[in-house]
Amino acid sequence: MPELPEVETVRRGLLPAMEGRRILAAQVNRPDLRWPLPKRMAERLEGQEVTALRRRSKYILAELSGGETLIVHLGMSGRMLVSGAALGQFHFDHPAPEKHDHVVLDMEGGARVTFNDARRFGAMDLAPTAEVEDHWLLKALGPEPFGNAFNEAYLIGRLKGRATPIKTALLDQTVVAGLGNIYVCEILHRAGIDPRRKAGRISAQRLTTLVPITRMVLEEAIEAGGSSLRDHRQASGELGYFQHTFRVYGREGAPCPHCATPIRRIVQSGRSSFYCPTCQR
Ligand SMILES: [Zn+2]
Repeated sequence: MPELPEVETVRRGLLPAMEGRRILAAQVNRPDLRWPLPKRMAERLEGQEVTALRRRSKYILAELSGGETLIVHLGMSGRMLVSGAALGQFHFDHPAPEKHDHVVLDMEGGARVTFNDARRFGAMDLAPTAEVEDHWLLKALGPEPFGNAFNEAYLIGRLKGRATPIKTALLDQTVVAGLGNIYVCEILHRAGIDPRRKAGRISAQRLTTLVPITRMVLEEAIEAGGSSLRDHRQASGELGYFQHTFRVYGREGAPCPHCATPIRRIVQSGRSSFYCPTCQR
């Protein structure tokens, strides 16, 4: 499941192909993904210039010159492929159409953007740009981890009195947008906080460290995604999936990089938590 850094990597990979360019042709091959696709979707996309390509949480938002925004969510298995020109020094031929190519955009400048999603947990919708933050998929999202609204005072206030484990609280998309299981495990290890600790019982001083640590962990992952993008472009036009080394995630039994204690795995709310029983209290 792509998390915020993967989605940001996809956005950056799409930028040269899409931003400031018109959608010359749109091909929509089915009526739905996870939910129905918007009515007359191809017609509403064709001829529009993508004036800005933004990200909100794990959603990519393509603002169109006509006043609508295309909302894209990759879901579990959604992939974005860029082929053709407009990729700087790299050029890929358009691949043969594949079975799960659901939406194909031919861009001004010669690039083709293909959304392929075998399991169809992804989503796309069109909404007026002026109201996009009120769209039902985005409305309840908490502040962006890199935004000013996600700050020490906010986090302390938001977690005050909460009896849920800190791991669960950070996964709550209304507390902070875009964090998933992998990066929450990494953030809590970096902060030295036991994932089972009740959110409301952690001292303000320790909660304060979570804000810069969250940004640092995500920034490092985005940086890793950026370098994979540069390498990857030579092999294929697929965006967003990259090798990133984690300190605790997926490393049950392996030594903690900080103290060499074997990493432990527990299950919280049905999901694996990886942590160091020595460093995290
Ligand atoms: Zn340790």
